[in-house]
Amino acid sequence: MATLPTQDVMDGEYSEEDESSQESSAWGRLFPLGESFIALDLSKEEYSFGRGDNCDVPFSNNGAKKHQCFQAYSKVHFKISRQLTTTGVHVFLEDMSSNGTFVNGEKVGKGCKQVINNNDEIALALKKNKAFMYMDLSSANDSDLPAEIKEKYTLTKTLGRGACGEVRLGFSKGSCERFAVKIITKKKFSTGGKHAVNLSKQVMSEVKILKALKHPCIIGIEDVIDTPEVLFIVLELVEGGELFDKVVSLSQYDEPTAKLLFYQMVLACKYLHDQGITHRDLKPENILLSTDDKETLIKITDFGLSKFVDAGSMMKTFCGTPTYLAPEILITAGTGTYTKAIDAWSLGVILFICLAGYPPFSDERKDMDLPKQIMGGHYTFPKQYWKGISEDAIDLIKKLMTVDAKKRITLADALTHPWFKDEEMKEKAQALMYPDTGSSMGPPVSVPKKRSIEVGAGEGPSPKRKTSQDTVSPPKTPSV
Ligand code: ADP
Ligand code: MG
Repeated sequence: MATLPTQDVMDGEYSEEDESSQESSAWGRLFPLGESFIALDLSKEEYSFGRGDNCDVPFSNNGAKKHQCFQAYSKVHFKISRQLTTTGVHVFLEDMSSNGTFVNGEKVGKGCKQVINNNDEIALALKKNKAFMYMDLSSANDSDLPAEIKEKYTLTKTLGRGACGEVRLGFSKGSCERFAVKIITKKKFSTGGKHAVNLSKQVMSEVKILKALKHPCIIGIEDVIDTPEVLFIVLELVEGGELFDKVVSLSQYDEPTAKLLFYQMVLACKYLHDQGITHRDLKPENILLSTDDKETLIKITDFGLSKFVDAGSMMKTFCGTPTYLAPEILITAGTGTYTKAIDAWSLGVILFICLAGYPPFSDERKDMDLPKQIMGGHYTFPKQYWKGISEDAIDLIKKLMTVDAKKRITLADALTHPWFKDEEMKEKAQALMYPDTGSSMGPPVSVPKKRSIEVGAGEGPSPKRKTSQDTVSPPKTPSV
């Protein structure tokens, strides 16, 4: 995202320098979500926004005229006001537009008014045309954040959560560039107990790993702020959500899309393996999508469990979700020495899920528990769910999900598998990964390759998948 100039902006614009003077009187702050908007502190009782020059915030001032939506904005598109009501002071957004003002994706409607709250997103004319995020300065409570982070970033809404804690949307002060800030509370990860691992060290290894990597399908690291109690890892923001949620919402991917996404995943993991790194925790929650589009760039994240395999000192405790765990980890109960082949297994499980919409192993199986299913490689491709999916796709899954790690296909070999003999798909992947090269001939020399995923199930029926917050469940009776 382009950084925003701080000079040629209007009164009330939020910037590092004037923050102290603004802070006392401002009750709200608008952060820009679109390139043609600027940050603004709200201290007056009412503001009008629109295409017209008479607005308090005229869009025409900020390069917005060039934006494809500019003509769709109304002269006065919306108003924000702060009013005292019988239930206290509230901030209202009033939609004055013909084409609509959206709060968190819902159209307010011309002449209608609604309360806006901290972290609400305002879009104009189109649901997808996000303009601002509202921050309620009276309720924003970042007083417990260390000064080191507050000096550089404003942290806002939660983007996701994982084993390590929270990931929040952050705006850099001054430029308002957006990032994902992973917040790791060190206390939580102190050692203790027989199998405890010093996770704080592990986290520092995540930082070290990420800094050394450069690949379009691997999350970029911007900054690290280490304070006595909390570590902040400032990451490139990825806006399309988790692959996990996408699979859940789509039921499954069509085969061509799955192939495009999975190819990127394999390329990125092959790049990792070439650097001597095993990810160890590959799962759809840790594969992020750049955009909401079906055909999109993927980014692998969460290197918290990764290790330089050649550096020895393999972690003896495994914390992965069993669904994606390679059999050799279960067989040795986490005490063995593993190779990068564990990632190939996890990728096989991910491909299975993308294509079928349910996982290969199920807790609900009566005759065999989950670890036994995994250790024995007991998974099948029931016709009713797989009939529209190509033999090549199934063959690649079988080669990735081979119980004997020594016989399992390597990612280098996976890339030459017949399923990936698809020039059109590869060209699309190249264009997503290297949009500036304008070449379909592969990445520039010495730029690492990436991976992608997604497959189409053709006319195959959608298996009824039960889903919950953190699992993808198989259909009731996968014939096993
Ligand atoms: P953990 O180690 O706690 O699992 P992750 O790095 O996997 O942490 O982050 C947890 C969640 O936060 C992810 O699954 C995702 O939803 C969200 N997230 C993480 N990094 C980003 C990012 N760079 N951009 C957007 N969302 C992110
Ligand atoms: Mg994670």
